[in-house]
Amino acid sequence: MELQQLVDRIASEVTPGGAVADYIPALARVDPHAFGLAVATLDGEVFGAGRHERPFSIQSISKVFTLALALAENDDVWTRVGREPSGSPFNSLVQLETEQGIPRNPFINAGAVVVTDHLGLGASDRLLEFLRRESGNPGIGVDPEVAESELDHSDRNRALAHFMASYGNMRNPVDVVLREYVRQCSIAMSCTDLAKATLFLARHGVRNDGTRLLGVSAAKRVNAVMLTCGTYDAAGQFAYRVGLPGKSGVGGGIIAVVPGRCAICVWSPALDARGNSVAGVDALDRFTTLTGWSVF
Ligand code: GLU
Repeated sequence: MELQQLVDRIASEVTPGGAVADYIPALARVDPHAFGLAVATLDGEVFGAGRHERPFSIQSISKVFTLALALAENDDVWTRVGREPSGSPFNSLVQLETEQGIPRNPFINAGAVVVTDHLGLGASDRLLEFLRRESGNPGIGVDPEVAESELDHSDRNRALAHFMASYGNMRNPVDVVLREYVRQCSIAMSCTDLAKATLFLARHGVRNDGTRLLGVSAAKRVNAVMLTCGTYDAAGQFAYRVGLPGKSGVGGGIIAVVPGRCAICVWSPALDARGNSVAGVDALDRFTTLTGWSVF
């Protein structure tokens, strides 16, 4: 089946269900029934269906790109954050105390805050620059309404950051890091933009302009951490159903990587109890079933 036919078929078959995230009030205003899907192939072709050109809040999907940017500099970020699945909710505090302020992995909030701290001041601008280049869309920016709403409701993330600071695992002031972190989560992008920006992970670290961001093993490692930790405390279920490295966000987006073939982004804001898009996981499940393209 041609990829365009495939994405059209998937878009016509899935049914959005669940509830939108409302702990960040600005996120609660999106249409829960929206659905978009884009597949970008290694040669840069994009096949889209539904509202694949509509920007949405990327939220935790940003954590994949900040990790990649940090690893592109060096790998000492791994002295500050682990790479085991947490089995706990993405904003949990409990493990931090028993594990002396070292977060389990870079995709839970505590771990992502450490990675942002590692990148330092200007982290969100560097991220924006990277995302604009890879997607070829210079219009990508921060949604100011989401950023303000998130900053106003960031007590939990602030607590995580202060807790890690008490263990000496923060280099910059908590306020500065939190502002960068909230900006990165509040970036708005479409499925098409995100699928293109994820291609470097399908190309074993090589960017769309042919230059290399990551070595082959660093790219493999980012994909591995996505597979084991990328979909909150449902990463096992995601691997079981979809069989691809993936990263979700509470804005309802999920990116997924088929190494050597393509990158996929799906968006549908209604989430299940663990925070993953219901129609998004369903669409990716159908994609790997129909194509046979999983890593297993
Ligand atoms: N900005 C959100 C938070 O920090 C990201 C959560 C997510 O998408 O998992 O709570």
